[in-house]
Amino acid sequence: MLKTDILIIGSGISGLFFAMKTAKKRPDLSIVIMTKETAKNTNTQLAQGGIAVVTNHIQDSFNQHIKDTLRAGDGHCDEEIVNMVIKQAPDRLKELIEIGTSFDKDQEGHWELGLEGGHSQHRILHHKDSSGLEIENKLLKIIKKMPNIEMLENHFVIDLNTETKKNKTTCTGAFFYDKKHNRIKYIRTRTTVLSTGGCGQLFENTTNPLIATGDGIAMAARAGAEIEDMQYIQFHPTALYTGKENQLFLISEAVRGYGAHIVNEDQKRFLFKYDTRGELATRDIISQAISKELQYSSKNHVYLDCRHLDRDAFYNQFPAITAHCNELGIKPETDLIPIVPAAHYQCGGIKVDRNGATNIRNLYAIGECARTGLHGKNRLASNSLLEALVFAHQASENIDRTIAEFTYSSKILIPKFPKAQQSNDYYAFDILKKELKGLVTAFYTSDDRNADVAHEKIKMLNNAAIALIEAHEITIPFIEFSNMLATALIIIKQCKTEKKEMC
Ligand SMILES: Cc1cc2nc3c(=O)[nH]c(=O)nc-3n(C[C@H](O)[C@H](O)[C@H](O)COP(=O)(O)OP(=O)(O)OC[C@H]3O[C@@H](n4cnc5c(N)ncnc54)[C@H](O)[C@@H]3O)c2cc1C
Repeated sequence: MLKTDILIIGSGISGLFFAMKTAKKRPDLSIVIMTKETAKNTNTQLAQGGIAVVTNHIQDSFNQHIKDTLRAGDGHCDEEIVNMVIKQAPDRLKELIEIGTSFDKDQEGHWELGLEGGHSQHRILHHKDSSGLEIENKLLKIIKKMPNIEMLENHFVIDLNTETKKNKTTCTGAFFYDKKHNRIKYIRTRTTVLSTGGCGQLFENTTNPLIATGDGIAMAARAGAEIEDMQYIQFHPTALYTGKENQLFLISEAVRGYGAHIVNEDQKRFLFKYDTRGELATRDIISQAISKELQYSSKNHVYLDCRHLDRDAFYNQFPAITAHCNELGIKPETDLIPIVPAAHYQCGGIKVDRNGATNIRNLYAIGECARTGLHGKNRLASNSLLEALVFAHQASENIDRTIAEFTYSSKILIPKFPKAQQSNDYYAFDILKKELKGLVTAFYTSDDRNADVAHEKIKMLNNAAIALIEAHEITIPFIEFSNMLATALIIIKQCKTEKKEMC
């Protein structure tokens, strides 16, 4: 049977940074990273705007960044965590730079700092408009060279295994599906780290890739981990509207910070009606303002107007965004860019302490799948890459201190999933997923959020899914869809609880 000291589930910024730090410090420990598709297929590689760090202590300060984060979080942040993350940011940035990650500088060699919604200062370090890709590439390059890390692509983790003794539950390993060999296997672990990202794919319009189906949330919940604040899903106001796909291309917040305007069908700016900061208000406020504008006008989208900005400077600052628009026949210097709000970021998740530890022994959660207390009701732009780095560091330090206490479980395990089935039901599950996305979007964006009705509909989808696989043993589309259903139910339940508390 396979075994490893540390299993990391996910190859985004949090999982890779954690792996790098831990492998360097503890060459005696074996580390396995499993990822359900290729290593690069993550939310991380899509991050455009960059990472929020206070580097200029003359105009800016930790206190201002803390204040902006707390304001965006609308009274629901954990102040101690906000302090820790923001004050630790320069050290974590230094570590990224040490491995060769490059961030843009001006001609005098100073950081070229971007401004984004909700930030009172320019403080976003970026690599053009491909910051996440730059970070992901550099981390993957380092990790490949580390002898005690094994990267297993196309290994879909299905479930965590736990043991409970004297009322204490411990995570002892995980079941996974090895796609290449079409086998379900089990791996024993001393520590498991979930870094599985978000759940944007539960919604009709999202900036998240297809991997973002809430697997980590569903797995952790099944294992008995506490899940919190899933009612706070952040919508990004400026996703490029095409009317076709469900994964929408993001037009970074930094474009508004750079001076772009949001206009309606009549080419009029309207955001100042909703917030005095106009285009620089936080994402939740702008997304809600756009939704209201769309309700009044019965249109499908509004526009981002970049026509007044210097063409060459814009192209230089945002090469990937410009190239994508051009491919669709949109020229930012002459054309309006159609945009809609899209599900972008999961502010809540698996509840963890300041070390990324869950309530289950030996189980950690870091990155977007974790609820750390940093974001409250609404994440401040470019704070999530930062949160991923800081909690990867915290977890790594903590595991270094504590792993000696943990040995492999000696229990003989009867696999819960005896057989895998090569699946031919992707199409059928695509249809079910579409229905689920419609249902979750309608529920989440409606004024009354009728949880009981949504719950009933989800039960029907669950029955349909079970009927589909009755002929087989188990299939990946089924597992992924079940995770989406489970995560949807948690969102609905936590929205319901919040509504009750507000009454
Ligand atoms: C378009 C876009 C732009 C963004 N821009 C910014 C930005 O400028 N600044 C910022 O701070 N944040 C930004 N964000 C948010 C940020 O990118 C993410 O929050 C962050 O990258 C998440 O990193 P992560 O390590 O938690 O997980 P991810 O990068 O999402 O990686 C998740 C990993 O988990 C794996 N996984 C999931 N389920 C399973 C399973 N069952 N079995 C095995 N593996 C599994 C996936 O395969 C993947 O490897 C952006 C997000 C998007 C979508």
